[in-house]
Amino acid sequence: MSAKFTYSFDTPGFKGDVTIDTRLFIDGQWVDPVEPATIDVINPATGKVITPVSAGSAKDVDIAVKAAKKAYKTTWGLKCPGAVRGRLLNKVADLVEKHADEFAALESLDVGKVYIRSKTMEITGVVAALRYYAGWADKIHGKTIETNENKLAYTKHEPYGVVGQIIPWNFPMMMLVWKIAPALATGNTVILKPSEVTPLTALRFCDLINEAGFPPGVINIVNGYGNTVGQAISEHPLIEKVAFTGSTITGRRILKASAETNLKDVTLELGGKSPTIIFDDADLEQAVKWAANGILFVTSQVCIAGSRIFVQEGIYDAFLTQFTAIAKYLTSATGDPFSHETQHGPQVSQTQFERVMGYIESGKQQGATLHTGGERHGDEGYFIQPTIFTDVKPEMKIVQEEIFGPVAAIIKFKTEEEVIEAANDTVYGLSCNIFSENASRAIRVAHALEAGTAWVNTALTTEVAVPFGGYKQSGIGRELGEYALDTYTQVKAVHVNIGLKL
Ligand code: NAD
Repeated sequence: MSAKFTYSFDTPGFKGDVTIDTRLFIDGQWVDPVEPATIDVINPATGKVITPVSAGSAKDVDIAVKAAKKAYKTTWGLKCPGAVRGRLLNKVADLVEKHADEFAALESLDVGKVYIRSKTMEITGVVAALRYYAGWADKIHGKTIETNENKLAYTKHEPYGVVGQIIPWNFPMMMLVWKIAPALATGNTVILKPSEVTPLTALRFCDLINEAGFPPGVINIVNGYGNTVGQAISEHPLIEKVAFTGSTITGRRILKASAETNLKDVTLELGGKSPTIIFDDADLEQAVKWAANGILFVTSQVCIAGSRIFVQEGIYDAFLTQFTAIAKYLTSATGDPFSHETQHGPQVSQTQFERVMGYIESGKQQGATLHTGGERHGDEGYFIQPTIFTDVKPEMKIVQEEIFGPVAAIIKFKTEEEVIEAANDTVYGLSCNIFSENASRAIRVAHALEAGTAWVNTALTTEVAVPFGGYKQSGIGRELGEYALDTYTQVKAVHVNIGLKL
């Protein structure tokens, strides 16, 4: 297989060639997989193959882990001062910023995301996260703990060593950076597996790793399928920690693999079925816009999508009318992710397309009212119309299960108590959105909901300095902010006798 692939973009947003190496990136070099195999990467807007890329196996993971272990012992970890690690992270941030257009274009090509959003939200956020963790790299420290006059006791926050990281397809570059930046800042070395569906930006990123000057083996990117490369990372005895973002079902498999091998530490960022609650006293116009943003943004392929929208009875009709108008506008603005007119792109793959259409069918069959949308858009690619269901019942699949597609269930409620109970009636606990101009009520409800993030009068607005993660079956551990540093370090307590004689 030819190693280099060049895509020529000629779009309203970006014109130019982007070249990537399609092999595996191990020990600072591009290498072929031990057992030759490829995966076709598909353009979701057309359904056509963009390029094949190499697919690794457990053997490649093993080689990458050994390179990462060697780098950890010789050039990274405790051998490399935090200030140097921070400088390298800042350097790679500068390089991503310099090539922001290329990254945004590759991301839109691969995921089908509206180009301008890839650029202004995702790639901007990626650069911010790299810089944020660059700043932490020389600020990792423990505590001295007073015990008695004969003892000096203190803690050290040490890296795990080699960490494995497995990411999904919905925000490939952002997920990559949310994972590698805190891991590297705290002195770990990394084996990262991108999603086999969307590996292009991760491959482009590898060239920048070398250009920034990271020592070989510090970051290794092994593309491949979940049940081969992902499984091998979860089981490898020299990997001390795995961080995963993806579905709850895969999260369970990773936890099980860890339990059955070396009991590695595991961080999981999983699925969600987040409630958006709009009270009668909300600023209706703003609430409608935020709620629409909260579920229809990036075709709802977001774990924090507010897919259950609870609207208090006094404003229900007005809300539905205005929300429907936005859904219809998005339907008319569906198409080529690179067009300036487009606001709504495709689902990422044929599999996701079929999955979402299956949920729409189940909503109809279980007796919900299909208020608008529900159809395929166009005849190529994986486009689905923004879809609204009303008259839903709590037990319906479209209310209980994560759809990961542009399908909103709108539910009328009467009282605060009733809506808290209904909103918490889910196995998930990732996030919630509350809209009310009554601050006491909004905060009271935010505290009563079982979720790792509560947004009040806003939705989906993550911040790099603020922790992110789930309650219940939405995850274990936190990413972002100072909290993420804890998940990449282990605490050593040191006791020194300075006077006790036996
Ligand atoms: P997925 O679980 O199918 O795949 C995620 C990653 O895991 C991929 O790289 C895949 O190859 C790998 N994988 C699959 N099987 C594996 C196995 N047995 N062992 C190890 N790795 C394996 O999820 P997806 O379809 O890529 O992404 C969508 C899901 O991700 C949704 O459920 C969504 O809610 C979730 N998600 C969560 C967050 C969050 O922060 N909580 C963010 C984005 C996406």
